[in-house]
Amino acid sequence: MKFYNTLTKKKEAFIPLKEGKVSMYVCGPTVYNLIHIGNARPMIVFDALRRYMEYKGYKVNFVSNFTDVDDKIIAKAIEEGVTAEEVSQRYIAECKKDMADMNVRPATTHPLATQEIPGMINMIQTLIDKGFAYDVDGTVYFRTRKFDEYGKLSHKNLDDLRSGGRSLLVSGEEQKEDPLDFVLWKPKKEGEPAWESPWSEGRPGWHIECSEMSKKYLGEEIDIHAGGEDLIFPHHENEIAQSECCNGKPFARYWLHNAFLNIDSRKMSKSLGNFFTVREIGEKYDLQVLRFFMLSAHYRSPLNFSETIMESSKNALERIITAVDNCKHVAENAASGELTDKEQEKLREMGEFRSKFEKAMEDDLNTADAISAIFELVKFSNTGVHAESSRAFAGTVKEEITALSDILGLLVDRKTEILDREIEEKIAERQAARKARDFALADEIRDELLAKGIILEDTREGVKWKRA
Ligand code: AMP
Ligand code: ZN
Repeated sequence: MKFYNTLTKKKEAFIPLKEGKVSMYVCGPTVYNLIHIGNARPMIVFDALRRYMEYKGYKVNFVSNFTDVDDKIIAKAIEEGVTAEEVSQRYIAECKKDMADMNVRPATTHPLATQEIPGMINMIQTLIDKGFAYDVDGTVYFRTRKFDEYGKLSHKNLDDLRSGGRSLLVSGEEQKEDPLDFVLWKPKKEGEPAWESPWSEGRPGWHIECSEMSKKYLGEEIDIHAGGEDLIFPHHENEIAQSECCNGKPFARYWLHNAFLNIDSRKMSKSLGNFFTVREIGEKYDLQVLRFFMLSAHYRSPLNFSETIMESSKNALERIITAVDNCKHVAENAASGELTDKEQEKLREMGEFRSKFEKAMEDDLNTADAISAIFELVKFSNTGVHAESSRAFAGTVKEEITALSDILGLLVDRKTEILDREIEEKIAERQAARKARDFALADEIRDELLAKGIILEDTREGVKWKRA
């Protein structure tokens, strides 16, 4: 497998530190609001990468944090008159719900910054002991000039950064030795969450959080570190500086960054106000459509969001689902079970689509081309599977379409599957029809549910349902 590594600016063959294992860290969201679909892009693409590596037989240790202490969380808590913890807990729960609806698997571990403060304090202390950090009146800064390799990820020249440094001199930070030094620990302000430390009662800087959580759950040296491209500088650059100076080892071997999800060619972001939450999109579309849309572009290409493109994604996904449905229908009604010689020959040809799919995924996670391979398979299915096909043939083709889609986390075998939420919606529709005395429609809905194996029972407490 090859990845474009931001660190070397090259596509490189992936060689894991430990054979058969992958350690991977993806910077997660700051939880002060519902996540928007820009935040969903790294979640979806790196979930697809994880799934593909697991498919290839790797054991993947996938860590993704929640940043649950931050100025924005504190501001929101003050606005609502609740604790910062209440705000972060609420939006972590909401984020997990969105992830599940997008079929993004939970990480092996989802550490919370607030639960890892002692480890961060230890790292900061080591950095001070080694001369890489200093304390001024309770604020600890990283001494950037001591790390010769600073700038290696973002390919920024230190002198250029420094000459532009005046703008980096934010008020209150004049005490820094160098404009490029960044905060590892800051003293609390009134009403803020705070922890005891050797320097002041306060809280960690954002960058040290990821250095510590990555170290604790994955080790000092890891295979892959990923996130959106806005994190390259300063966040990931600073993580490298902290981790490498503290641990005396290279930090992550492969740095992967997704490009932005844009709207009208501008980055979708909370601060610009040009965003849609995953929740909003979920009201209009099945979130599988959002997932399909995200994966239909290469992760390093900017992706423009629009209603039109969502509609075409919906139709495209529907084509895959229909092909699967067709195969199932043929298999159920097939006169013969056994493969004919001709069908055997055709199945050998079918292998070509999986090879194309894998080749695309191996080439820096080219999900766009991988999806094209699925469409070639769909075409093969639409022309090859027909009323005279055997059960084995139709079933095998169906399995192949669902297997490749599954690797991308796309659920395409769903026509007969019905989710609890959909059942409840149908029942509500039926109740409304009955209230409007449209009994024909009410019966139609009951039959439709029955065909999907859902039995309704009208009781005095209301409608109850069970799966047949
Ligand atoms: P944040 O909560 O802003 O720290 O973002 C969480 C993750 O979402 C980070 O990996 C960001 O790089 C990523 N992200 C935020 N906005 C976008 C966007 N418009 N397109 C792609 N990724 C984004
Ligand atoms: Zn991070």
